[in-house]
Amino acid sequence: MSEVTAISKFACPACGAEAVWTPAKKALVCPYCGTVSPAELKHDGTLVEENDLVAMLRAIPDDQRGWAAVRKTVKCQSCQAISVFDEKRVAQNCDFCGSPAIIAMDDVGTPIRPGSQLPFKIPETQVREDIRRWYASHFWAPNALGQKAMTDTLHGLYLPYWTFDAHAECPWEAEAGYYYYTTDDKGNRTQHVRWEYASGHVSSDFDDVLVPASKGVRPALLEKLQPFPTTTDLLPYDPGYLSGWVVEQYQIDLVQAADDSRRRMDAILRSQCAAQIPGDTSRNLQIAPDYSAQTFKHVLLPVWLLTYTYGTKTYQVTVNGATGKIGGEYPLSWVKITIAIVIALIILGIFMASQH
Ligand SMILES: [Zn+2]
Ligand SMILES: [Zn+2]
Repeated sequence: MSEVTAISKFACPACGAEAVWTPAKKALVCPYCGTVSPAELKHDGTLVEENDLVAMLRAIPDDQRGWAAVRKTVKCQSCQAISVFDEKRVAQNCDFCGSPAIIAMDDVGTPIRPGSQLPFKIPETQVREDIRRWYASHFWAPNALGQKAMTDTLHGLYLPYWTFDAHAECPWEAEAGYYYYTTDDKGNRTQHVRWEYASGHVSSDFDDVLVPASKGVRPALLEKLQPFPTTTDLLPYDPGYLSGWVVEQYQIDLVQAADDSRRRMDAILRSQCAAQIPGDTSRNLQIAPDYSAQTFKHVLLPVWLLTYTYGTKTYQVTVNGATGKIGGEYPLSWVKITIAIVIALIILGIFMASQH
């Protein structure tokens, strides 16, 4: 009997489908929703899940799963994004990368229902105009791109995010530096630093630390779209809002999502502790955060996406559907760069000639 068949069946904590033990990743990987849950394989063939988030996901009851409306789900074989949309719509291409290689996912388990969503505020006409201006402001981009902004298909998408809340107690230690000055015989003033041990404590409550769970949009672009007004404008989930829009279903690497939220909270605590250090300057700040009362929610956030092909590569331009902030990729125009180099050489030539 092989090792694989000896393992009892394990349901994916995110969607309930059967997850597959993948030794290389030391994790259960869900072939349907892509969720990667860390686990440890015992000698007797049982699996022990190792992540708090896994337990929290499992604890979500069935009545908080599903879209609460009839929706169609497809997965792109090229970029792996899972799109969910109105039952009547027929999708021919992936909304994220344009690939025609999409397959229907009819018998997937039920995903966790979003707790809330942020409605679209910026209309399509304004988004096109903003993208056109954005292209125009990038001198090294080919001129043809400005035209594309007016003609290419713009997709309004609800992207999946996790928001994490937690409480942290965080003691810190550092060396606080105090400036003092000496003056020598010639009257030159010199600054010195006197270092003293300092310590303190920060208590902090984190609310809505955002971690993206999108596969379809590149992480660097999502970073550029932040912040979303999640603390003020979130509305309770209502399937009516999604009608006519495409929703991306989350795919989570739980380890990464948890690490990600921790990394973001650590960074915030660090700056809060740094602000408490007395004196004029500081060094060797050490923080020891202890987190408790962690919870997380699944939310949908509005993003306009334009995917275009230039040469052989695809590029994405995204616009925050609530604030209008743009994050985009663009190719460099080799024609413009070549002309710039030639002009620079001519100027250099004239300069050299004038030196004789
Ligand atoms: Zn799953
Ligand atoms: Zn795709």
